[in-house]
Amino acid sequence: SQHSIYEPLTESTAVALAIRLRLFKEGQVLHCEEIGDGNLNLVFHITAQGKQKGIIIKQALPYAKVVGESWPLSLKRATIESNALLFAAEYVPTLVPKVFYTDETLAITVMEDLSHLQIARAGLIEGKTFPLLSEHIGTYLAKTLFYTSDFGLEPSKKKLLVQKFINPDLCKITEDLVFTDPFFDIDTNSFEPELQKDVEEIWADQPLKFEVAKLKQKFLTQADALLHGDLHTGSIFASETETKVIDPEFAFFGPLGFDIGQFIANLLLNAVSRAEQDREPLFTHIENTWDVFTTAFTELWINEGVEVYRNVDGYLEYALQQAFEDAIGFAGCEVIRRTIGLAHVADLDGIDDLERIIQAKQHALRLGKELIRNRKTIDSLENLRSYVSTTE
Ligand code: ADP
Ligand code: MG
Ligand code: MG
Ligand code: MG
Repeated sequence: SQHSIYEPLTESTAVALAIRLRLFKEGQVLHCEEIGDGNLNLVFHITAQGKQKGIIIKQALPYAKVVGESWPLSLKRATIESNALLFAAEYVPTLVPKVFYTDETLAITVMEDLSHLQIARAGLIEGKTFPLLSEHIGTYLAKTLFYTSDFGLEPSKKKLLVQKFINPDLCKITEDLVFTDPFFDIDTNSFEPELQKDVEEIWADQPLKFEVAKLKQKFLTQADALLHGDLHTGSIFASETETKVIDPEFAFFGPLGFDIGQFIANLLLNAVSRAEQDREPLFTHIENTWDVFTTAFTELWINEGVEVYRNVDGYLEYALQQAFEDAIGFAGCEVIRRTIGLAHVADLDGIDDLERIIQAKQHALRLGKELIRNRKTIDSLENLRSYVSTTE
């Protein structure tokens, strides 16, 4: 049943909704807590007394709280998020939370409670390894990207899907926060005074900005496949055995390399936050993500491809090479914006000593620039690893 007006839920109206949806047995004592950590959405965790697993109700707010200001934001993103989760469930059902109910007017998604898992970023910061993370994310990327691209989906069906995932408000956030603001003297940027000189170097670096402009243009125009759009390690729940991708409210049709690049960038940010000798698990995950992605994507291309040119020599290799090059460039932009832009990461900000924070952030800035500049020649993990050490 669809509600006729939008209003933000409270802990008690969230419980009332769960009861009305019969998501709990009658007579159970329910507990509800708002656990959202973002500035865009409410997240209610509802559990029955004595039970481990409850439910999650995520509701979009009609504005974002940004540096004390209120920035209007379409509620349509809740529908985009639930559609993206439902769509992903067709191809990678074990890698996303189950969706129980959606309401477009209330802008809510009611979904599986994943509290038994940990947000990957938090675990990686604690030094956890999550041995299956890259296997799972490589598979997630290959399947979600292939089946929504013109390589795996009839172009007429694809265009209907493109329409369904038009997402201008959230794309604008990425266009500004990832591809524009960090490269200009804009007051939403945020960085320590110790970084002023490094940041001014970036703002003055015309050849670098030319490369960022090209990457931004790809993001604006290249509708290769349905992206998650916000695939950082804070959008992934993980354990030793399970991986679940959440929070696809930024989903839209964009360039094949974007999700891969954001994921790799966030592994690199964690690597940079660690001492050199502790970085190996991150490099292994980056390498394995790419290997699993290319292997699975290749298999799908061969066995389920719909593009008549799929058997032309070199086409698959070209498509993968282009995705890799773009991913490295997008990763560079993400590394820089997470260091000096509006939205930071705990991997760097949470380092316990200011001098080490500054060193790690200077390292991140140098690395980000090299990734952007050299994305056409970086062709292996060895290469990527050497850029991490030479920019130390
Ligand atoms: P936002 O779009 O505001 O970033 P997220 O979807 O990332 O919202 O959720 C914010 C937080 O809420 C997550 O970091 C996690 O702690 C919690 N959360 C979200 N979805 C679930 C879920 N399905 N199960 C358990 N906790 C969740
Ligand atoms: Mg709270
Ligand atoms: Mg989130
Ligand atoms: Mg989000």
